[in-house]
Amino acid sequence: MKTKYLLLAFYCVMLLQGCSATSHPLGKPAIGRASSSAEMERLIDQPGPIQLETINSADWSVSLSGLLNLDSPAAKEADLRDRDEPIQIYAHVLKHPRFGNFLVDTGVSQKLVDNPGQAGVNWMIQKAMHIERMHINKSTAAILQGLDGKLSGVFFTHLHLDHVSGLPDIPDDVPLYIGSSESTATSFKNMFVRGANDQMLEGKQPLQEWHFQPDPQGKFEGIVDVFEDGSVFAIQVPGHTAGSTAFLLRTTRGPVLLTGDACHTRWGWEHTVEPGDFTDNHARNLLNLQRLKNLVAAHPQIEVRLGHQH
Ligand SMILES: [Zn+2]
Repeated sequence: MKTKYLLLAFYCVMLLQGCSATSHPLGKPAIGRASSSAEMERLIDQPGPIQLETINSADWSVSLSGLLNLDSPAAKEADLRDRDEPIQIYAHVLKHPRFGNFLVDTGVSQKLVDNPGQAGVNWMIQKAMHIERMHINKSTAAILQGLDGKLSGVFFTHLHLDHVSGLPDIPDDVPLYIGSSESTATSFKNMFVRGANDQMLEGKQPLQEWHFQPDPQGKFEGIVDVFEDGSVFAIQVPGHTAGSTAFLLRTTRGPVLLTGDACHTRWGWEHTVEPGDFTDNHARNLLNLQRLKNLVAAHPQIEVRLGHQH
């Protein structure tokens, strides 16, 4: 009897406070060192050494009310209504001349689409996420096969299912990097991702968090110089999730900003409207989206690649 009450109390707490995104362990701090917006902005306009290819791993469609805050003044003025919105799930392949190949987010594994249950995605989440609408163009396994050399690491923008969905194809010894608090902060929404995250991370390396420090110029919450050579910066942009991270890469073709899901859609970027129901903290998400837009306004040569739309 006592166990029953304890269990009931446990579920009540889960419902009230939510849970963390995964119980997968944290490892040692990630590579890189704390940097600043001044240092990043001093380098942005100089060509860099990174080769970057953004691959549309899968086409998908989800509700616009998840992707965009339809209650925002701009969305109301444009009379945007909820509908199915076509989106893409990307994997960004980054090649550093000395440190090798990295992925930013993972694309989609064919295994997940063929057998979501086995990948840890339960029936309820399969229905809620409409996994049957995911159409793979290039699976994570195919992306890895095309690499010149092995994969040295994965940088996650955050731990939502559509960003970890390539994990079944990622070798177990590959280091995995996340934003600070991404795996440990509690949220009600995590009740929908934790089970799948746990199963997809099983047997993988411990998660390594970027070691952010407050940005001395206060333009962002924190910035890390990932390879300590000014070629790739991880930018702390929480709001969509507690550890949401954007990346500024100095490529051979100029600077590229990967926003992650701080902004999903082209319309959201152009009108400065944060995501809708998929976002945890709207005010903080909007603030960090505005900060990313300010960065691009100051450096208009930055090419912006959004979370789910070109
Ligand atoms: Zn996403």
